[in-house]
Amino acid sequence: MADDKQRSSPGPINRGRYEASLKRLDDIFRDISDSVTEVSKWRCPYKNVKDRCTANFGCRNQDRSVPEGELFICLSDDNLDYRSAWELLDDERTNLDKETSC
Ligand code: SF4
Repeated sequence: MADDKQRSSPGPINRGRYEASLKRLDDIFRDISDSVTEVSKWRCPYKNVKDRCTANFGCRNQDRSVPEGELFICLSDDNLDYRSAWELLDDERTNLDKETSC
């Protein structure tokens, strides 16, 4: 009962604490965003946190010797340009070549 009362009336807002809290949240998310941007330069976006492949296409880095229903294991060492490892259909490859040649 006392907890319900405390939640329904938070009291006056301390503007300084509120702004400091927003600043802290902004700093946290900015750090996360910066990390994501950096990691995205070398880690395949289809590789999940457990080093499993979530791609719906073939890739030479996939270890397919997993039980049925499990995601393939990604064998990429994260030091390569993974884009060339993807197995694309000929027309997809042609389109990709057109898009990346400027
Ligand atoms: S197996 Fe290929 S597509 Fe899948 S996560 Fe690894 S590098 Fe990416």
